[in-house]
Amino acid sequence: MRFHVLTLFPEMIMESLNTSILGRAMEKDIIQAQALNIRDFANNKHHSVDDYTYGGGAGMLMQAQPVYDCVQHVVEQIPADAKTRVIYVTPQGRVFDQALAKELSGADDLIFLCGHYEGIDERVLEEVVTDEISIGDYVLTGGELPALVMIDAIARLVPGVLSNDESAQTDSFQNGLLEYPQYSRPAVWHDKEVPAILLSGDHAAVDRWRLEQSIERTKQRRPDLYEAWLKKQNGS
Ligand code: SAM
Repeated sequence: MRFHVLTLFPEMIMESLNTSILGRAMEKDIIQAQALNIRDFANNKHHSVDDYTYGGGAGMLMQAQPVYDCVQHVVEQIPADAKTRVIYVTPQGRVFDQALAKELSGADDLIFLCGHYEGIDERVLEEVVTDEISIGDYVLTGGELPALVMIDAIARLVPGVLSNDESAQTDSFQNGLLEYPQYSRPAVWHDKEVPAILLSGDHAAVDRWRLEQSIERTKQRRPDLYEAWLKKQNGS
């Protein structure tokens, strides 16, 4: 799977992606990533990429031309039959979640367009973008962190990115529930004991306990998820 990030701050993207689990996956060529500087595509001599907004108001807007040319440059690198999505990360988009991460992990190429300042000229968005996605109802200064959040969540679902020890199968949201509490050595810490069942060696009993804990935790912390899970269990 290939990630292409179009940004004014490519170093911010690559420094992060080259780290830890995703860095290892890139070394093994399981995923590939590149960050392109939109400024390199500005066709004016000062390489400026923003201007005032028509109609007045505070703040600058990223202009259509450099964004369009940068997207075209990337699209030309992608095989015609590749499953490709062009994502504008924006607080105005559909809110990202695990189901959307799973869906996007089936793509061949994902192009992330990161806005800055007041955002991007609407006309280029209408021409090139297939999906507008938000990471939540708050406003950040730029799209780099949202793009990194999404890439991380998507990439770890690509087969081979996580090792067996890091499997995503039991993670929160995979089965519609939050994950159960977990413990590591020592068995007693600050007078708190690890639940005895986890030391019993009875795998079926451990699985039952974990499911009960998941259900209880979801009910307490995320009643919205719990209701949806319950409905699914009842086949409605
Ligand atoms: N004026 C825009 C609005 O009100 O919708 C906000 C622009 S924001 C200051 C600059 C850029 O940060 C956006 O173009 C977008 O790419 C990114 N951004 C900010 N918050 C975001 C969020 N919650 N999810 C995804 N992207 C976000």
